[in-house]
Amino acid sequence: MDRYKLPPHSHVDLSERDPRDRRGFEGRKREGRRVLREMSYELGTLQELLYAEGKHKLLIILQAMDTGGKDGTIRHVFRSVNPQGVKVASFKVPTLKELSHDYLWRVHQQTPGKGEIAIFNRSHYEDVLVVRVHELVPEGVWQRRYQHINDFERLLADEGTTILKFFLHISKEEQKDRLQSRLDEPEKRWKFDMGDLRDRERWDDYMEAYEDVLSKTSTEWAPWYVVPADRKWYRNLVVGSVLISTLESLDMAYPVWTGGDPGAIVID
Ligand code: AMP
Ligand code: MG
Repeated sequence: MDRYKLPPHSHVDLSERDPRDRRGFEGRKREGRRVLREMSYELGTLQELLYAEGKHKLLIILQAMDTGGKDGTIRHVFRSVNPQGVKVASFKVPTLKELSHDYLWRVHQQTPGKGEIAIFNRSHYEDVLVVRVHELVPEGVWQRRYQHINDFERLLADEGTTILKFFLHISKEEQKDRLQSRLDEPEKRWKFDMGDLRDRERWDDYMEAYEDVLSKTSTEWAPWYVVPADRKWYRNLVVGSVLISTLESLDMAYPVWTGGDPGAIVID
């Protein structure tokens, strides 16, 4: 799945990337789901090890247009992990208190500690996406942020955080279907937000803003993956397999037992 990883300084044209791509799994949806089920158990085991060892920190950033599948990815890919040791942080419209600080203030507090996985549902990237598209600050202000963000992520990486960033890439047509089913299905209606339509009107501007994000902030220490996300099962498969191979590469081990001969310990 490394083909979806962006090397640093890539120039990204999203129109050249097919959101319906499912390479390696054409006509194999059932097989894909089976693989995902196995992967979720594997992920559970690896997360247990990460937690037990208490050494590494993993930060997962999810970005997407509305209905892009951030919530669904969290629900499906992480279904077998122990909630202890994993935390999800969702970044909404900043509060007055958050706005009175710099834009990274609220983000830094949610980064993972040793042995933890933190999943960001939206992130500091909103500060160069929605903020840019809706002109919430002048251009001179958001332009400087790409550099801040690369430096901030570098700081986290230098201090022991592994960072993975996923852009869940859906098509505009797929978003239309998903928004429509939010309206049609009563149990999904709570998710419908008129603001989603305002953002949809600015689709092309968002794609341009995303292309800049992806081109300027995919780094060796915090790479972006552009995940084809029109097919939910394939999206989950891509994210899951990147997570597993990343965790495997950390070379983790359970803590060494230092209590002498465990057989000599008597429990009354
Ligand atoms: P949702 O994640 O769809 O439930 O909604 C969260 C909303 O908060 C989205 O419309 C985001 O664009 C918005 N949001 C998140 N971060 C910021 C930010 N830094 N500035 C302005 N809006 C934001
Ligand atoms: Mg929304």
